[in-house]
Amino acid sequence: MTTMNKKLTLFIILNFAFLIFVNAQPERWQQHVKYNIDVAVNVQTNIINGTEKLEYTNNSPDKLSKVYFHLYWNAFQPGSEMDVRSRELGKNLINGRPDWDTRVTDRISKLTPSEIGYQKIISIKMNGLEQPVKLHGTILEVDLTKAILPKSKVIFDLVFEAQVPVQIRRSGRDNAEGIRYSMSQWYPKLCEYDYEGWHTPQYVAREFYGVWGDYDVTIKIDKSYKLGGTGVLINAAEIGWGYDKPGTPLKNISSPERTWHFIGKNVHDFVWAADPDYEHIVKKQDGVVINVIYKKIDSLQKKWENVADAAVAVLPYMEKRFGKYAYPQYSFIQGGDGGMEYPMATLIKGPSLGTVFHEWMHSWYQMMLASNENEHPWMDEGYASYSEGEVMAYYNKLKNIEGSKELPLNHADAYKSYYFLQRSNLAEPMTTNADHYNTNIAYAINAYSKGEILLEQLGYIVSDSVRDKILLEYYKLWRFKHPNPNDFFKVAQDVSGIQLGWYKEYWLNTVKSIDYGIDSLWQEGDVSKIRLRRIGQMPMPVDLELTFKDSTKELHYIPMDMMLAGKPAESNEKRFVHQEWNWTNPTYTVEFKHPLNQLIKAEIDPTKRMADVNQDNNVLNLNW
Ligand SMILES: [Zn+2]
Repeated sequence: MTTMNKKLTLFIILNFAFLIFVNAQPERWQQHVKYNIDVAVNVQTNIINGTEKLEYTNNSPDKLSKVYFHLYWNAFQPGSEMDVRSRELGKNLINGRPDWDTRVTDRISKLTPSEIGYQKIISIKMNGLEQPVKLHGTILEVDLTKAILPKSKVIFDLVFEAQVPVQIRRSGRDNAEGIRYSMSQWYPKLCEYDYEGWHTPQYVAREFYGVWGDYDVTIKIDKSYKLGGTGVLINAAEIGWGYDKPGTPLKNISSPERTWHFIGKNVHDFVWAADPDYEHIVKKQDGVVINVIYKKIDSLQKKWENVADAAVAVLPYMEKRFGKYAYPQYSFIQGGDGGMEYPMATLIKGPSLGTVFHEWMHSWYQMMLASNENEHPWMDEGYASYSEGEVMAYYNKLKNIEGSKELPLNHADAYKSYYFLQRSNLAEPMTTNADHYNTNIAYAINAYSKGEILLEQLGYIVSDSVRDKILLEYYKLWRFKHPNPNDFFKVAQDVSGIQLGWYKEYWLNTVKSIDYGIDSLWQEGDVSKIRLRRIGQMPMPVDLELTFKDSTKELHYIPMDMMLAGKPAESNEKRFVHQEWNWTNPTYTVEFKHPLNQLIKAEIDPTKRMADVNQDNNVLNLNW
């Protein structure tokens, strides 16, 4: 090979490598499942009987000698792990109140046999052969008589019976708003197997993770009931009730029961709810059908109509900011006990727009990206909370509604919760499994608030516009692939060109705080100097804004050494980019050209996006 050829080859290889780096779609195999569920509901006894056929494709490189199913409703029995865990947490008093979910408390311990929930497997066959099982609370272990080979497909046939529990948490009958059936976690659900192995958490409180696939669900129920659920109602012409054409009534039939047939594609769960008194509003936006299904109460009618209008109004913004909504339909269904997200649907207690935006944004982070929520609850709840704040701000602006002006805009409440946790002795690292926190409050603040701040503060580190690009790229590269924290931070680094391993490490693995302060200032000749001090243990880049007597302002930007790069300018404000601040140094001195007595104010991070736990030392006002 000649030198020139070598050069050319090298050039081609480098270019090729670059292309792979920029365009590579990360590969991560996913198991696949096809559910055919057929159930009949007895509305007198609250018992459901059904069959479930699963076509399970093992796309992993591993031989599977066992499979596992979730039997979530077994949690609603006295003495279950959910019951004991709730009562134990109730023994901790935080600000004088028991640290338990007020919906659960000790209610499970008091359920009578006709009020409990259960899921009983009457038979389970693989490729026609009955399989041995072991029950572990809410997890069913199936010890396969023959292993499932890599890249092969098997058929499971289940016969099951379940009793709908009295509404305690998420699912159940006769909730506080009087909805007859909130049907989540209602069928034997295959556990997820991924590159980490099987995920078989007991159902003690929260968080879900599932196998993507297609659901074909038929539900036979008393003909007076009206349903909403995941997927598209494919026998809409038989049902009517607005599903076929706007404003049609529920069709009259002679038989006592009616069958509803839903198909949901490329989802990892299926929810439905039923009540004889449901009303139904249908809207359409960007090719997506939006259903609002609720129990009619005159005083709330306008608010439910507003839910439908608001959902239509914000969808284009959600897609522009966070990526395309991948499904043909979404349903806001009154039910459950707060707001809970499911694929293509949510169960919400009432028509609050904050909940509406939050639950719908879960379609991005829990349904399309679908990180393992048990292990990384903040990747779902935190990001849904962040985007809820952004969507709410957009909606308020659209409707000329005055929002809060508190900084950081749209996210101030999350910072307040986080500061409370940091000042308490309850902080735990964000890497804690959702079910394993010492307190519910530390879970809630970490998953929702500290997760929300992760993104708002990322805007401070890499600039808001780059953060927005990261979110879109993350969605593009990782949807339908169950990303983990490393995957997110890798995208953030690639898009920003800024090293962020330190941010991941401090923010997720530790409870260290950020605290920067203005230490002192003086003049040397015609140069003025301000010394800044890092008081907290977690290092950050620093934005320092100086205001002068003539009311001009300057932004002094000090990148932190571990970033190896700085963020672009975020506004037209005059900006001075300084030498990086080595994280090992407790102090840093900023120089500026004005005589010191011209300075009237110095402020660290005027946007308040940096989660500085002590802001008193961030501002210095001067009266010369
Ligand atoms: Zn949520």
